[in-house]
Amino acid sequence: MPDLDRIVRDIADEMRGRTDRGEVASYIPELARVDPGAFGIVVIDRDGAVASGGDSEAPFSIQSISKVFTLTLALGMVGDRLWKRVGREPSGSPFNSVVQLEYERGVPRNPFINAGAIAVTDVILSGHQPREALGEIVRFMQFLAQDTSIAIDEAVAASEQRTGFRNAALASYMKSFGVIDNPVDYTLGVYFHHCAIAMSCRQLAMAGRYLAHSGRHPGTGLSVVPPERARRINAIMLTCGHYDGSGEFAYRVGLPGKSGVGGGILAIAPGRASIAVWSPGLDASGNSHLGRIALETLTKRMGWSIFGV
Ligand code: GLU
Repeated sequence: MPDLDRIVRDIADEMRGRTDRGEVASYIPELARVDPGAFGIVVIDRDGAVASGGDSEAPFSIQSISKVFTLTLALGMVGDRLWKRVGREPSGSPFNSVVQLEYERGVPRNPFINAGAIAVTDVILSGHQPREALGEIVRFMQFLAQDTSIAIDEAVAASEQRTGFRNAALASYMKSFGVIDNPVDYTLGVYFHHCAIAMSCRQLAMAGRYLAHSGRHPGTGLSVVPPERARRINAIMLTCGHYDGSGEFAYRVGLPGKSGVGGGILAIAPGRASIAVWSPGLDASGNSHLGRIALETLTKRMGWSIFGV
């Protein structure tokens, strides 16, 4: 049996010394202030044992990783009707691409590209005030992580709200096709704020555990989603979780995963573990450079790729 604690510590040591760290996202000005030298990793196994290394307790902006949780909430609210509003095919396009939306008449390819996540946010918002919808999302994260200290980083949310013109374009364009029900500003406000939730690797790995355990929340024994839905969310994470880098992530890591431009990645080893890594420098597709390398090492040494050892 490989020694998980040892492997996680080795990975954190190796990543600390690396100089190839990618580029920190700067299109959201507040994110550009983050230390590019940070690295954290947490693995929580089936029994709840935690293996951690590096900056595992430091909160960072989870950004698009929040889309896994908003997808879970929206499916809980409207079930399979969600798939009328958004597809579930890999996009092969950058996360904020406008061009694909025109070809596909305002229906986004999947719930993890920005357009798709904005459409999913709109579903959660319907029938609520933006503040209520956001409260629901944050409380869901707090419940999953069993930690009421999880909160939105208002400086990051405001920074994106001031500069998120491309997301505003995507939302307006979808609105013109009737894919967005609520006022565009409301939907975008909720979207920017849930992307700005700050969490540590430990909190994120805790929150992802239901996806590793057939939809059941190991902390409370409660069912978050039925097993079939957990399996399907994992499938979408595998095929769409890293934008136009999803194929490369599957090839190298071999796990369902979701990245965010804050440099975090949540990865799921089904039946085995929930894993969170964080390193703010990104590769050309907007995915954490060292985060991906760390996960590749972890899955190789543990034999955890879903495609075999
Ligand atoms: N809030 C970010 C945006 O909409 C999320 C992108 C990401 O993390 O990939 O641009």
